[in-house]
Amino acid sequence: MPSSYLNFRFHFLNEEGKKQSIIPLNGRADGESGLRLTEYAIPIEDIVHVYRHQEKLAVILKPYLALPKNLAVNVLPETSALLIEVADGFAFNVKSAIDQHLSRLHIAQARMRWEAEGKGKLFRTITCPVCEATTDTTAIFSEYIYCHYCTTIFNQYRQLLLKSEQYNICPRCNYYGRLQMYPEVRFFWLPKEKEFSFGENYICDTCAGRTYDETIWRNALYLVGLPFTLYLKYMMSKEQDPILTEMAQANRLAQDGNMVEADVLYSAMLLRNANHPGLLYNYGLAWLHNNEPKKAFNYLSRVLELCYNYEPAREILEIYKDTEIIRN
Ligand SMILES: [Zn+2]
Ligand SMILES: [Zn+2]
Repeated sequence: MPSSYLNFRFHFLNEEGKKQSIIPLNGRADGESGLRLTEYAIPIEDIVHVYRHQEKLAVILKPYLALPKNLAVNVLPETSALLIEVADGFAFNVKSAIDQHLSRLHIAQARMRWEAEGKGKLFRTITCPVCEATTDTTAIFSEYIYCHYCTTIFNQYRQLLLKSEQYNICPRCNYYGRLQMYPEVRFFWLPKEKEFSFGENYICDTCAGRTYDETIWRNALYLVGLPFTLYLKYMMSKEQDPILTEMAQANRLAQDGNMVEADVLYSAMLLRNANHPGLLYNYGLAWLHNNEPKKAFNYLSRVLELCYNYEPAREILEIYKDTEIIRN
């Protein structure tokens, strides 16, 4: 059952990700007051969306809210977002608790709309097996359902798409792939090029492969960076979903404009699994990047037949829906 309330500890972060207090503050998410940060409550209907990256949450609020001064000072400049770091490893639970309440609010509004049209009896919902947020499935008859809140794909029996806890849309290249936390170390000193940087990126195997190729020879000149680059190679080679073995390579070929070879790999994966929304999405995106919008449209439409509310495919089709080629 969805949790009715959750107490947690957190820090406000500034736009550089720095904690704004030494001691963690108290927070609470519940159905009555919404999201409470210290003594200030943000009603659930004032929250637009919550994004999570590891233990950090970006809470996007409706713009132009009249917030209490102590809360308003923590809103990131030029945005309506609060950035917090949740303590004790609770970030997933806090986001899920907010999403459960937020989705229930949206569901209640959707139910009213269906009832106003005299179709209340048709109203159906499903609860996400990962975050327990609720999705309106009244108009969804596809095999799979996409959770708008935690971005997982599951079927009508609430079974997750195979390995979808590891695979998702890459924030860097927008392809569907296995996402991992990769170190990115650039430490080289050439006559005309100086660079030292260290960071971590939550990216797909394809993007990690590109970073590896870009940094290996330079880091090799300065051995400090080399162990990190080799570790990156090890991470990439870790066991992958056997159905999607060629995914990282196919995406790389497509992104580099080599669609002839990418086509062979995508086709091979499709032979093993014809009904994989993520794979078909990549195939469509690859054709789009290689100037074949008609083929792209066909694959992206197929994605929606399998997963009617898959937002990544919907967003692309929305952008291109009025173009000549797709209409013809
Ligand atoms: Zn979910
Ligand atoms: Zn990527």
